[in-house]
Amino acid sequence: MIRLRGHHLFCCTLFQGSGYDGTFASRMAQVLERLQAGEEICLVEGCDDVCAACPNRRGEAGCALGTENVARRDAAARQATGVSLGEEFFPGEAGQKLRAVSREQWETACACCRWKEEGLCSWELFVQLRSQRFV
Ligand code: SF4
Ligand code: SF4
Repeated sequence: MIRLRGHHLFCCTLFQGSGYDGTFASRMAQVLERLQAGEEICLVEGCDDVCAACPNRRGEAGCALGTENVARRDAAARQATGVSLGEEFFPGEAGQKLRAVSREQWETACACCRWKEEGLCSWELFVQLRSQRFV
């Protein structure tokens, strides 16, 4: 089972190979492969299977980018997709939830993120990829 925090549903939708370092990018690619193989997801709080390979991770639940900041993104993404902590669902169900996310909800969860500000993430790309990655 893939352990994902809320806002990583969005990040997994938009990942295109860039990351904080090579180990992180490899982990993201592995998680995408598992999603595309249909592995079940468990929605968790704090560090997840993606954070586990991230150089920004600090301890069990911390993030160098701001633990509260990433927790805020998680809460916004959970609200946008209607999933609860501890909920388990398959990628196809995640896709249905992601396709119901509005632009305003996506902008709220992704506000001030480096990857959005650098143009690597956008609402337009999210709309395009959310129909392809979680099937
Ligand atoms: S903008 Fe940031 S939080 Fe939003 S999907 Fe991209 S990397 Fe994830
Ligand atoms: S540790 Fe922070 S920057 Fe790294 S993947 Fe987790 S939330 Fe994102």
